[in-house]
Amino acid sequence: MLDTTPEKPQRRIWAYKGETVTCIKGHAICSIAEDILVGSPRHAGRFTNWVQPEPDRKTSVADIRCTKCRGVWIRGNTKHGWQFHFGAPPHGEWR
Ligand SMILES: [Zn+2]
Repeated sequence: MLDTTPEKPQRRIWAYKGETVTCIKGHAICSIAEDILVGSPRHAGRFTNWVQPEPDRKTSVADIRCTKCRGVWIRGNTKHGWQFHFGAPPHGEWR
């Protein structure tokens, strides 16, 4: 019998353990605690080494800003859903 099972796509890594999430100006916010696959939940437990107070569950993520410059480091309503900022200008990127 022919195996018609579609080949499983390789799940890509969204962020690697130890990467630093930054605001758009490049201030460190927190680090990635473990490799996170694309499509996996990005809950607070996956972030570690908070440089600023860890957000609590009552805080809307849209209201969380860098405590140093009030810059954003998380954004929603993109076609990819919630995104986080990595890196510093001019090499910063949203993912
Ligand atoms: Zn900042």
